[in-house]
Amino acid sequence: MSLSLIAKSIKPSPTLALNEKFAILKEKGDPVIHLGGGEPKTRVPMEAIMATVAHVNTGEVRYAPADGIPALKQAIIRYTEEFYDRKVTPQHIIASGGAKQALMVALQAILNPQEEVIFPAPYWVSYPDMARLIGAIPVPALPEDGSFYPRLKDIEDRVGSYTKAVIINSPNNPTGAMYSEEFISDVVQFCEKKDIWLIMDDIYHRLIFDGRKPINALKYAKKQDENSKMIIVNGVSKQYAMTGFRIGWAVGNKKVIEAMSNIQGHQTSGPSVLLQKAAVGALNGIQSSVESLRVTLENNRNVMIDLLHSFEGVKVTKPDGTFYCFADFSVYNKSSNQLSAFLIDKVQVLTVPGAEFGLEGYLRLSYCGTIKDIQDGIERMKWALDPNSPNELYIGDRKLVRDWS
Ligand code: PMP
Repeated sequence: MSLSLIAKSIKPSPTLALNEKFAILKEKGDPVIHLGGGEPKTRVPMEAIMATVAHVNTGEVRYAPADGIPALKQAIIRYTEEFYDRKVTPQHIIASGGAKQALMVALQAILNPQEEVIFPAPYWVSYPDMARLIGAIPVPALPEDGSFYPRLKDIEDRVGSYTKAVIINSPNNPTGAMYSEEFISDVVQFCEKKDIWLIMDDIYHRLIFDGRKPINALKYAKKQDENSKMIIVNGVSKQYAMTGFRIGWAVGNKKVIEAMSNIQGHQTSGPSVLLQKAAVGALNGIQSSVESLRVTLENNRNVMIDLLHSFEGVKVTKPDGTFYCFADFSVYNKSSNQLSAFLIDKVQVLTVPGAEFGLEGYLRLSYCGTIKDIQDGIERMKWALDPNSPNELYIGDRKLVRDWS
């Protein structure tokens, strides 16, 4: 079929495909456990629900401005002041259909075809395809020292005449690694010196553990306001468990925000006013749900890490934040796709193959579900992978029998 070259270069989102697979197995009544999820399961803040309901009850649900409703921009101004110590204006802000769209329109606003965007690996699955969608070139930077913590040199080594932007996602999906203040400061200064765009994907910045505090990259910027080439992306999906509301935003200089708004205006128009109202409710409401989610996730992380430590041969780096753990399972199978398929097939545990994030031999395991899911999921994985396991495993009243060695 004569599809476009770009369409042919894009893979389906592996994480969304996994969610579909989970829904199908669940529907069939299979006892499947989702350790591949990317969304917290806590309740949406009450203020978000009330604000949506109040607006829908007016019976007047119309187009919203392409770049976001004023009330949401005001809430983002407050948020930016609180977390980035910067007083911005509405012209510095765009609200989008999730952080995903904010990132996409940012890339569309700054990259030409064939220009390059660098990001540390392992990376969030969508970055490479987002770049390809506009004919740009994704350039992953795997830390040379084999860790999940890049150094400036890892970025520097990949910068060339086509480099237009760097994306930093810390804490990171899939590793949970939160990069050091020193690294963030180095990258900010380096991008300024080279005059390249820096996109900070801060979607997980409040979901951090062990007493860490969110890092404010703007603090290290020398170029202010209209000369700044830093774009900060954030949203309500993760911190307020509002993934289905699809509200994210970007803060940047007025020109780039205007360009992004023009693009978004033709693409989708502004996000639904109902969902923007919900985001206003969450951002202006009582913030205790974020802290309680953070505490739950930290506890879940500890449970998962303990279980993984008792898993012979699996190498784990303790996540500093997010709700993901990226563990090295290469002793069992060097192909993460094969291993992930094996785990679904034999014990109905969903994991995301490391290959999708640019690192083979690893699996991304999520701890955003219940403690029971974590415990049962890892127990099943151990049973499936450890050759010394007993021959049978009971899941409820189902008996699984090993037919592999
Ligand atoms: N950036 C990263 C690193 C993510 O993990 C995600 C969601 N998985 C997003 C952006 C997009 O989030 P949203 O739901 O706001 O589009």
